[in-house]
Amino acid sequence: MAITREHVLQALSTVPVDAGGTDLVASGRLSDVVVDDAGRVMFSITIDPSEAANMERVRQAAVTAVQGLPAVKGVFASLTADRPAGSGAPASSPGGPQRPRSAAQPKNQRIPGVKHVIAVASGKGGVGKSTTACNLALGLKTLGLKVGLLDADIYGPSMPKLMGIHGKPRLLENRILEPMEAYGIKVMSIGFLVEEEAAMIWRGPMVMSAITQMLREVAWGDLDVLVVDMPPGTGDAQLTMAQATPLAGAVIVSTPQDLALIDARRGVSMFKRVEIPILGIVENMATFVCPHCGQSSHIFGHGGARDEASRLGVPFLGEIPLNMTIRELSDAGRPVVVAEPEGPHAGIYKSMAQQVWTALSGGAAARPAPRIVIE
Ligand code: ADP
Repeated sequence: MAITREHVLQALSTVPVDAGGTDLVASGRLSDVVVDDAGRVMFSITIDPSEAANMERVRQAAVTAVQGLPAVKGVFASLTADRPAGSGAPASSPGGPQRPRSAAQPKNQRIPGVKHVIAVASGKGGVGKSTTACNLALGLKTLGLKVGLLDADIYGPSMPKLMGIHGKPRLLENRILEPMEAYGIKVMSIGFLVEEEAAMIWRGPMVMSAITQMLREVAWGDLDVLVVDMPPGTGDAQLTMAQATPLAGAVIVSTPQDLALIDARRGVSMFKRVEIPILGIVENMATFVCPHCGQSSHIFGHGGARDEASRLGVPFLGEIPLNMTIRELSDAGRPVVVAEPEGPHAGIYKSMAQQVWTALSGGAAARPAPRIVIE
């Protein structure tokens, strides 16, 4: 039988935190409980730094209680120092071990000032998810909206390059980071903070901590839409992200190949499983227009994503051709929507942005994310 969050909470409710017999769950100190599909359990316990020694005993008792459950493959439990409003928290680098974060904050709460958070996701890497996220964000900006772009692809952050941003974000008061800015949108990426290789080896709680930090410890200000470029795939990091974020919806990017469509289907079902609406499917690298003769070829087949969208009952947002200019401009840090704003490719991204905004403003407002259900 698979382990569920409820099993874990039940076990944790047998762990007393004080002499009065208050249990860990009732104490309100438990900030995250995540169970991934490999049977690993992660949670953190909020403490005051002065009670660290005593609470370490509680942490160990909690680990023992959860480890005793059948099918638990590992337990990652941390103590996190609560941070009273307006005070600083202990400093540590995001690349360092188990970074403390503002644990008292429920993870699925709305981000103050941010109206809608949307995810751009794909079932696998290399399908053009980041290129789509960045041009979609810029397309939303052309509608007159205030837009942020969060590169949560911690295993391969590409926004610094795609948006042509160099340097590091400034640290403001209370360890809040100021987002970088390019082409009128606010951008945050783990790529600004750590070397790519460092992010690649992150696992479990560190991934969760980094993502939560980029969502909540960044001065996003007032935004109509925050576009989140998700890590590719449908594993732990994506589920964590879906759980940690008040997502209003998700855009799935796929290429026309069958294989990619299978992955896209997995992406759709992952979001459906956590009850996040699918804003639509985008078919990227749909056709190839020969730059010499102008003839269109459907190198990977054609229409698959549109058919798949209709089969799955989700909107089809459009198709973007495989085009050398898109790649060259991306590599040069000048996304096609700003480099060739009147061109045909910008037109496709803007139309997608319009459809997404219509769906968002039509009532699919940001809401607390549901809990993960492990089947
Ligand atoms: P992912 O985020 O899915 O890994 P990227 O957005 O990084 O994918 O794209 C992978 C590569 O494909 C990049 O070099 C990018 O410039 C290129 N690319 C993406 N979309 C297109 C397109 N429509 N036409 C040409 N090249 C593209």
